Amino acid sequence: MIHAYDTQTLEVGDGIFAYIQRDGSWYLNNAGIIPDHKLSYFIDSTATVARTQALLGEARRLGVGDRTGMVATHHHGDHTNGNATIDPSFLVSHTTVPEEMSNGFAVPPPGLFTPVDWGDIELRLPDLTFSSEIVLQMGGHRVELRHLGHPAHTLGDCVVYFPDDRVLFAGDLAFNGGTPFALMGSVQGWLCSLEALRSFDVQTVIPGHGEPCGIDVFRDIERYLRFVEQVARQAIEAGVEPLEAAKSVDLGEFAGWHDPERIVGNLYRAMAELTGTPPGGPVDVVAAFGAMISYHGGPLACFA
Ligand SMILES: [Zn+2]
Repeated sequence: MIHAYDTQTLEVGDGIFAYIQRDGSWYLNNAGIIPDHKLSYFIDSTATVARTQALLGEARRLGVGDRTGMVATHHHGDHTNGNATIDPSFLVSHTTVPEEMSNGFAVPPPGLFTPVDWGDIELRLPDLTFSSEIVLQMGGHRVELRHLGHPAHTLGDCVVYFPDDRVLFAGDLAFNGGTPFALMGSVQGWLCSLEALRSFDVQTVIPGHGEPCGIDVFRDIERYLRFVEQVARQAIEAGVEPLEAAKSVDLGEFAGWHDPERIVGNLYRAMAELTGTPPGGPVDVVAAFGAMISYHGGPLACFA
């Protein structure tokens, strides 16, 4: 089968490639490719077997051979479903990711999203984990993998930082042109992580979704997360549920971002936190997705 995916490979540093999947909406994530004649690296895979085969084809074109290492920026299926298709020699992640992968859904239950041909997805868990930081050599670069100390987009988000080239693969700690999503992490923790994110000496940020951008992307995310917190506070005071609060609020400057229904999931998380659930603590994810579908008016649009 021939697929005409809207993807682009950009050299964002010396031998550091960003694989951009447009339009960056649900499950259309970005990945990284760092070719090396000894051991090449992937940063994340993609959501489906076919899309990961396209990623692999691009990696081969760039000189990636059979020996590969891999980093998982977090557990979500758009970033990890293709792990087994890439079949790396080893996979590195933050310590919470294996459990998050095991407990989450690689392929979402039917009815949640519009139909997708995921392919035969096999769970491929990390082999090596770290709690705060680990340094790797990739393609001659010294590369820092860092967890920022708080649940944020998920519990186990890590960034992949190339200090010499001032490039930061931010995973889903950065969305560019898409709505940030904190349902499986923490609004408060994400806000706490932003100072550290802004302190990286960076020329180019590769967000988990959307076009490469500058460090200012974190200012946009902060404005959005503060907006979510404000709406959550008002909803608690008014005694209304997240869905009702989301339906009655004007998204304003954020209305044009992809997947605006994430406001509902974000309010589930923010309202739980404001009423005593610790950052990253349990929230009814199934109920939150049901409410997001209701807000959207049907299964969420997925073009993976
Ligand atoms: Zn994610």
